Amino acid sequence: MLRAILCAAVAFAAVDAATLLHAPTLRMRGGGKHFPNLPDSVKPGVVTGQALKDLLQTAKDKGFAIPAVNCVSSSSVNQVLEAAKKYNCPVMIQFSNGGAQFYAGKALDNPKETLKACVLGSIAGAHHVRLMAEHYGVPVVLHSDHCAKKLLPWFDGMLDADEKYFKEHGEPLFSSHMIDLSEEPLQENIDLCVKYMNRMAKINCLLEMELGITGGEEDGVNNENVDNASLYSQPDEVWQVYKALAAVPNSMFTIAAAFGNVHGVYKPGNVQLRPDILGNAQKYIKEQLKCKEDKPVNFVFHGGSGSEKDKIDTAVNHGVIKMNIDTDIQWACWDGIRKFEKEKHDYLQGQIGNPEGADKPNKKFYDPRVWLRKAEESAVERLGEAFKDLHCVNALG
Ligand SMILES: [Zn+2]
Repeated sequence: MLRAILCAAVAFAAVDAATLLHAPTLRMRGGGKHFPNLPDSVKPGVVTGQALKDLLQTAKDKGFAIPAVNCVSSSSVNQVLEAAKKYNCPVMIQFSNGGAQFYAGKALDNPKETLKACVLGSIAGAHHVRLMAEHYGVPVVLHSDHCAKKLLPWFDGMLDADEKYFKEHGEPLFSSHMIDLSEEPLQENIDLCVKYMNRMAKINCLLEMELGITGGEEDGVNNENVDNASLYSQPDEVWQVYKALAAVPNSMFTIAAAFGNVHGVYKPGNVQLRPDILGNAQKYIKEQLKCKEDKPVNFVFHGGSGSEKDKIDTAVNHGVIKMNIDTDIQWACWDGIRKFEKEKHDYLQGQIGNPEGADKPNKKFYDPRVWLRKAEESAVERLGEAFKDLHCVNALG
């Protein structure tokens, strides 16, 4: 055991030395700006490694969670950055495999052996986020969403890019990635996560793993008809995962445990959200570890859209540091365009001719910058609500 701890310490020291070699990149970030309410390690721009660890620990200690928003274009990235700046919050930007493919363009070849378009779209999105986040002046956790077994070539492609970026800059391209092997037997899920954790720990990249099943439908994965038992994780299952991942030197991980959460927004009633499950798991693991910390696990909350506010509060109190919000932002984008179209309908039926005259041009109504901006503004407003729900407003100080 002592030997393992020492090995971990040595591994961390080795990484630190490597990081220092590249210190100019890290030190200059954001002009050395700090945030009054966050540890000094957290600077404007993409947050990785120790800074990410510090940010998540602060969220857990102070009782807030960070919203994670799925993005599909530079416009959707910018609206998230705009919201984080407006509400003075840290934020997470994530790409699903479908979102990444869309970022690259739906017409690009995407063979299933390499998922090249998904890989390229993620990398393109990541570089956009890296460049802009620093200038918006907010800390951003850059993440990739669900990756099932058949999508592992996408995961491998992103990790290759992380390792290359690490060699050049002393940190991974992405802050973190999710692997979702919840459809596989538990042991296989754990074994594969440990294998990837070993690779990711070497470049200070965080792994989010999924345990149990998030109900509902998202990005082509349909779990609308799974049986209820698999929608609720058991404390001992969480412990098995925790133990295995914590044993990897320099590991950083979060767990998406199932507590009745669903993707999408449905009529209430069918599945009961039970965040107390997370509290039970924290207590159980604290006993196993015999540690002082009441909430040793960093939990993430999938399927945040449409959840009751008091259930969100309870989840955050039980150590949820990240909540995914996708469906509600999708609706907000559409709602912004819908309202604009309704209001300006008669100006949007042809390039020339509107209620003010048959020869009046309509360019200033159909220019994508006009109606896309309506989607952005509406999303920024809805994100403000998410930041409030998660007690994240003004978290930067
Ligand atoms: Zn999810």
